[in-house]
Amino acid sequence: MPTFPSTPRNLPPVQTKYRTIKTALPVPESLPILEEIRKYEPQSMGGMPPIIWKNGENFLVNDFWGNRWIDWSSGVLVTNAGHGRKEIIDAVVAQAQSGLLTNYLFPHKLRGTLARMLVERAPKHLDKVFPLSTGSETIECAIKLCRTRGQKISASKRVMVSFVNGFHGRTLGSQMVGGIPALKSWIGNLDPQMVQVPFPDGFRCKDVSFDLFVKSLADAKVNSTDVCGVLLETYQGGTASFADKAYIQKLRVWCDENNVLLVFDEVQAGFGRTGKYFGFEHYGVKADMICCGKGISGSLPLSAIFASREVMDLYPPGSMTSTHSANPICCAAAIANLELIDREKLVENAARMGDILHRELGKIQKEFPKNIGAVHGKGLVAAVQMVKPGGEEPDGDTAFAIVQQMYERGVLMFAPVGFGGASVKIAPPLTINQEALEESIHVLRESIRAVVQ
Ligand code: PLP
Repeated sequence: MPTFPSTPRNLPPVQTKYRTIKTALPVPESLPILEEIRKYEPQSMGGMPPIIWKNGENFLVNDFWGNRWIDWSSGVLVTNAGHGRKEIIDAVVAQAQSGLLTNYLFPHKLRGTLARMLVERAPKHLDKVFPLSTGSETIECAIKLCRTRGQKISASKRVMVSFVNGFHGRTLGSQMVGGIPALKSWIGNLDPQMVQVPFPDGFRCKDVSFDLFVKSLADAKVNSTDVCGVLLETYQGGTASFADKAYIQKLRVWCDENNVLLVFDEVQAGFGRTGKYFGFEHYGVKADMICCGKGISGSLPLSAIFASREVMDLYPPGSMTSTHSANPICCAAAIANLELIDREKLVENAARMGDILHRELGKIQKEFPKNIGAVHGKGLVAAVQMVKPGGEEPDGDTAFAIVQQMYERGVLMFAPVGFGGASVKIAPPLTINQEALEESIHVLRESIRAVVQ
């Protein structure tokens, strides 16, 4: 696996309105901090560009030595409303200063406010929301609710269907429903009633006909009446690939015919990222459950799962809980974040900036047709899928080299993820303006050129 250079290298200086690179990278003074992390944390926490973040300012990230990057990561799709927003900071500080930092499931004032605000923003029939701390927890809960409901209908109705190449988190259940075999080989005894079918993205899986879904279940010897839930990422995070719309519409009908819950994992896609409030709205179908995280608070650890009261109230008081559910400081952050998303019309901005981004990426793909196999995504999420020249084999080394070039030129991205680690993933805060977006797209073009020519 490629890694970022660990010894400082002198680079051409960069100074624009938004970007500054004025030191060697990594910054020599940052090395002891990086070393401390490397020494005491698992190496699995490594791999990102070696920058010591000082703070974030909306769509910019600063280090301690005067360098500044345009952020194309949003952390990891968290800071939809921008980094370090005063409104969120003020809400967090006020709540902390009130003296209530945590109180488990004992009621506090902000809990109901946040739950109401979330439900008001969700489709009407999803009239309850369960706050949790991480995206993986919402997936665990979705599996539990699908199976609980299914087994009330019939004892054998407990098959969860999900998709090849899907990612839903790193806890046991979320990895079992994940569709990346290498991530779950450690489990050993995979649940045979968790089945993955091909994801109809039109690139890695050319067959986008719904027949493939039916055939894949038959091949796996799954009886459709035994399925309790179908779970998919609204777009697959690694490649920003949406499923074929007609396929999802047929899937919705199939779920209705077989009394199956259709669950969208919106942990990445929610809260405006794709140019709609929830990304699944692009499919024009009803969701039975949606799992959210990341951009819900834009900052502190909070996640939530939405469902109808019939599904959400399957468990009696005290039996579906989590210690940090609706932590008061996280609630304060989330309320301020939701208000910012509305007040600044960030969903609309994501759609508008997304049009520019995807138009320009289309041009870039035409400029480098041998190296770019596909560009997927909507709104302010995109992935440029690098391939070995002339074919479709993922080219992780080239993707990594491009991300490194970007980092050295003042645009921050996370290390390649997605098919074979070959996706250059673009996900700036939804607050980014046209000038900064165009500047960073220009840097992408230069970086690709520097790597592939
Ligand atoms: N689902 C999707 C689509 C994700 O991208 C992630 C995390 O990246 C998760 C679930 C898991 O979320 P968390 O890391 O908060 O557990």
